[in-house]
Amino acid sequence: MKIKRVLTTVLTAVSIAVLGMAISSEILAKEAVSLRGEYVQGGLIIGQAADVKEVKKVMFDSRQLKLSEEGDFAFGFGRDAAEAHELVILLEDDSRIVKKIEITKREYRIQKIEGISKKVMNPSKSNLERIRAENASVKKARQTDDARTDFTQDFKWPLLGEITGVYGSQRVFNGVPKRPHYGVDVAAPVGTQIVSPADGVVTLYHPNMFYSGGTLILDHGHGISSTFIHLKRGLVKVGQHVKQGEIIAETGASGRATGPHLDWRMNWFNVRLDPVLVVGTMPSAGKKKRPLN
Ligand SMILES: [Zn+2]
Repeated sequence: MKIKRVLTTVLTAVSIAVLGMAISSEILAKEAVSLRGEYVQGGLIIGQAADVKEVKKVMFDSRQLKLSEEGDFAFGFGRDAAEAHELVILLEDDSRIVKKIEITKREYRIQKIEGISKKVMNPSKSNLERIRAENASVKKARQTDDARTDFTQDFKWPLLGEITGVYGSQRVFNGVPKRPHYGVDVAAPVGTQIVSPADGVVTLYHPNMFYSGGTLILDHGHGISSTFIHLKRGLVKVGQHVKQGEIIAETGASGRATGPHLDWRMNWFNVRLDPVLVVGTMPSAGKKKRPLN
């Protein structure tokens, strides 16, 4: 997939409607908000209000977004997000800017596999309970809505290596579609150091979840988080603040992994984002130079 790096849009405020006031056709001759990111399924959009004092509220698809003191906000599009979205900026004078957002749909790699035994497909009852509990703790960590704005940094790859799995791909076993793959897989020998792609706070660490094995979640603020799975071990503690580039974990093949690799996922709350759209294509050096153990 061709990745276009950050595209910037500036919303020139054209007043559309006035809440609870007489209809106004006033044109606000200023740029109220700028947006960067990609309008595509899996994309993360980072917004910045030109003058935060003039902005009362920012709503994306009727969800109110957290607005930082500096005017930063964020939202994103899931794997199967619809094409049409709406960003509404309510100004202090009660006028509204409505920005219609149309996103590009993607085609994902679908792999059909027949003849899988039922045993492999269906975990036992006790494992199901375990899986449910683990999913709940991951979900809870991803609900974190912190005021930090670490997500405004330029993200860096947590590990360089061969990309062996991509966002959105899906396997269909015996005609039954399985959960899509939401991360980007980077192959590396067990024990390879993983660094933090941006500043963050550790919100979850579990040494061995059923599917994801060693699992670490870093919160970057405003619901944006990174999840690292199949780890050999985490090297940071829950509640710890980490800086971009700091070593946070080692790669492994724990959980249901076919071989040693890092699976890096990104979320906006429960919305799955494509980390590659956030970080950009991997520096070419990473493709040739296999990471050292
Ligand atoms: Zn993976």
